[in-house]
Amino acid sequence: MAERSESDSRKLLRRLRDVLAMPAKGQDRLDRIPHLIADSMGTEVCSIYLFRDADTLELCATEGLNKSAVHKTRMKLGEGLVGRVARTLQPVNTADAPNEKGFRFMPETGEEFFSSFLGVPIQRVGETLGVLVVQSKVARAFSEDEMDAVEVVAMVLAEMTELGAFAGDGSGMAALHKQPLLFRGTTGQEGAAEGRVWLHEPRVIVTNPVADDPLTEIDRIRAAVGVLRVSVDDLLEAESLDKDQKAVLEAYRMFAHSRGWLRRMEDDIQRGLSAEAAVEKEQSATRSRLEQVPDAYLRERLQDLDDLSNRLLRILTGQGQDTGAAMPDNPVLVARNIGPAELLEYGRKLKGVVLEDGSVGSHAAVVARALSIPLVVHAKGITTEALNGDAILVDGDQGLVHLRAEETISRSFRDKIAMQAEAQKRYASLRDLPATTRDGIRIELQMNAGLMADLPSLVGSGAEGVGLFRTELQFLIRNKMPQRAELAVLYARVMDAAKGRPVAFRTLDIGSDKVLPYMKPNDEPNPAMGWRAIRVGLDKPGVLRMQLQALLRAAAGRNLSVMFPLISEFGEFQEARGHMLREIHRERSLGHKVPAQLEIGTMLETPSLAYAPDAFFQMTDYISIGGNDLKQFFFAADRENERVRKRYDTLNLSFLAFLEHVVARCAPFGTKLSFCGEDAGRPIEALALAAIGLRRLSMRPASIGPVKALLRSIDLSAARAVIDKARADGAETARPALMEWLAAQGE
Ligand code: PEP
Ligand code: MG
Repeated sequence: MAERSESDSRKLLRRLRDVLAMPAKGQDRLDRIPHLIADSMGTEVCSIYLFRDADTLELCATEGLNKSAVHKTRMKLGEGLVGRVARTLQPVNTADAPNEKGFRFMPETGEEFFSSFLGVPIQRVGETLGVLVVQSKVARAFSEDEMDAVEVVAMVLAEMTELGAFAGDGSGMAALHKQPLLFRGTTGQEGAAEGRVWLHEPRVIVTNPVADDPLTEIDRIRAAVGVLRVSVDDLLEAESLDKDQKAVLEAYRMFAHSRGWLRRMEDDIQRGLSAEAAVEKEQSATRSRLEQVPDAYLRERLQDLDDLSNRLLRILTGQGQDTGAAMPDNPVLVARNIGPAELLEYGRKLKGVVLEDGSVGSHAAVVARALSIPLVVHAKGITTEALNGDAILVDGDQGLVHLRAEETISRSFRDKIAMQAEAQKRYASLRDLPATTRDGIRIELQMNAGLMADLPSLVGSGAEGVGLFRTELQFLIRNKMPQRAELAVLYARVMDAAKGRPVAFRTLDIGSDKVLPYMKPNDEPNPAMGWRAIRVGLDKPGVLRMQLQALLRAAAGRNLSVMFPLISEFGEFQEARGHMLREIHRERSLGHKVPAQLEIGTMLETPSLAYAPDAFFQMTDYISIGGNDLKQFFFAADRENERVRKRYDTLNLSFLAFLEHVVARCAPFGTKLSFCGEDAGRPIEALALAAIGLRRLSMRPASIGPVKALLRSIDLSAARAVIDKARADGAETARPALMEWLAAQGE
């Protein structure tokens, strides 16, 4: 078995570095490398295979195989031994390659003479660039030392590729981070945007993968790990950590103090890597493990290790979050994930947001929605691929992201944005007109809001009021409970901005996915059906009462409308209303002004409430149907779960029948009824809701125009007849019938 010393590796890396430094074209540089590696490893063959596209590898340089096969021999991901390395991201080391399972004979390369084969992935933090192979005639397995050495070389190749060493004319290989890429994610917020990438956490650039003096590098890495350990310990000592934060930091501490982690990095440094490259090599290994671990808990721990590697890299390179780069015009934020407060800080200057993780119901998504910024979540791999300033197109409607798109795609995308702008202009001309159908039915259109910043849309959109003001954002974006006085100021400003138009303030709806950073999280098996919304408010009335006081102070004698979320039975409404009445009494006794007119309403979000006693419908001043939650409970389909979320159509005739039942329950008592879930803002859904008897819809400001345009163009009783017929025909949903009818109308 071949002995291989660390100094052999260091010598090889130095020679590679010289290649990197020489003035040459990309392919010329690449051509020199296999010879150096084969020479150092004592093998007849060394070949570099790189990805042509996401699933094709191409032989890009070789020593020992037929040179004429370069840029000709290709294989699919998973095909042959090279394809297997690329797919599994694990080395293949065999003494008898031709008899190895999956071996593919490539006659044009002349490789049939070579018996032993060692292939390792060329990868760099989450990005697989290709496969490095050494082969020899003698049938022997490569030693552990040799395998480590080849892995270190592969790492340096990855870094060199990243630095653009092999790119350029005639290289047959596109430079990294230059090709157009399409990411298929999930819609977080609809809308289209064109702009330039702005990375929330810019990647660390390692410019020196190879180092001359291992001792200096070892000193550097030990010092950096020391700083890291202290910073993690400090974080752990910080007060006000909740259970989850503590668990994450404990895991950080465990990794930061792990001897194995440091030892592996030191071994790689001994083989010639710089401290930074050694961290990245470990990080790459972690990432490929991350891909393969099915256990969610373990995956999270590996994610912690990945975060820790990033911190270590920043300590080593001195590259902080702030790289000094100027934010481009039309910035589109790209991040793994982002908290609501950070996103809010960027505010409306962002044209779009793309998250690698995130979820449709995350706090960041709530903020993006409130800011009306197109958002795509689950864009896998985007943070590795995108560089600051890259051209980016965000298609929030389809959940697609085009990075560095070809001109043809950009052009058609621009057409789409222009068409939307054109339509918006048309809608603007309807702004001051009522949403009255052809047969004279007037539908009141209101908007949903959650931030002070939303209020200017009230005038621009033509909304007749705010049908839902979500109050939780002010609680979510702070790291401590807001004070009554602070909230009163904010609510007063909202009322001022509404200029007398009604605003329905919904009391705090937390729990489920919306967990306050400063409240003890509850480990609940099923948080959407757990201790949330009014249930928290009634069990711990302190915050509810404080919020009601803030609203009363803000109104200061003006009209006030308040509604409670997730009321599931009459008793809960009576209790919540009781709190409000008591607060009014208290305010009056303190000599404060009480609202001239007070409306206390209910969100109907659980089917049970539709069957409450008549007394409930008499007592509540209004009902607002929270369709997002109601639909999830009606169909027992989690609104956050991509798999089931879209399975049931809002126009399902059972659901429409249920909504009609609610309309019918309200009618005898004249209880005002509205619908404020996301569906109200979708034109066909809005039409169906109006057709079954809803007269007030509350939606995103941007939806008011399209909904109004459609409502004004149709005859509501005819739409109703279409729905009735679909039901009589035994259809599951009214959608096809309505679509067909609209198409026939030329809509
Ligand atoms: C709803 O459930 O439809 C609703 C409007 O409330 P939220 O989306 O804030 O839960
Ligand atoms: Mg809800």
